[in-house]
Amino acid sequence: MSNRSLNLDDTLYGYLLSHSLREHPEQVALREATRSHPRAGMQISPEQGQFMALLVKLLGARHTLEIGVFTGYSALSVALALPAEGRILACDISEEFTRIGRPYWERAGVARKIDLRLAPALQTLDAELAAGAAGRYDFAFIDADKTGYAAYYERCLRLLRQGGLIAIDNVLWSGVVAQPARDDDTRALQVFNERLHGDERIDLSMLPVGDGLTLARKR
Ligand code: SAM
Ligand code: CA
Repeated sequence: MSNRSLNLDDTLYGYLLSHSLREHPEQVALREATRSHPRAGMQISPEQGQFMALLVKLLGARHTLEIGVFTGYSALSVALALPAEGRILACDISEEFTRIGRPYWERAGVARKIDLRLAPALQTLDAELAAGAAGRYDFAFIDADKTGYAAYYERCLRLLRQGGLIAIDNVLWSGVVAQPARDDDTRALQVFNERLHGDERIDLSMLPVGDGLTLARKR
């Protein structure tokens, strides 16, 4: 797994960062704090965080979902792009990972925008649906366990308004999705990518950003 865009050599990647990246100091600090974590490769790249922030602004999003928080960099990126009344319903199962991020959310002044739910994401999403939140959300980011993607996607699609957007991470899985599957995660991503390609409920784009990012707009 990689946390930088595919197929850019070091020189060009450095150029891209030095000519586009505009991070908040707390984003820089959170990346620094996560760098030595054994699972640091799970964090999205800074250019992807900035891209998602731009999408959130283009959508005029206020109600958003995140499935897979880790140490909180993607949530921080989205929260900084949301208006003052904007919210992220952030789903993760790990107190250990997510508690690393909270002080950075607080110092950046966005902690009140992030409603962290420590429970299996499916449980949180189903509770939202049961509470009548279908059609209420503008944006969702799916970046948790890969075998859960299909179920998260179906819930997110119902929770989104028409014209809302789902961004799905790691859809190229370091390139191995293009090879015969050797494990459950790869197989799940292959089946998921295939399904989305034929899904008439959405407009679709699969981008070679980070480890592959699919954008699905609800029709
Ligand atoms: N978006 C994060 C970032 O930018 O740093 C990275 C998320 S990381 C790839 C995946 C996260 O999904 C982990 O923090 C893990 O604890 C969480 N996760 C795994 N299974 C889950 C489940 N069933 N429900 C909710 N979260 C889950
Ligand atoms: Ca990811």
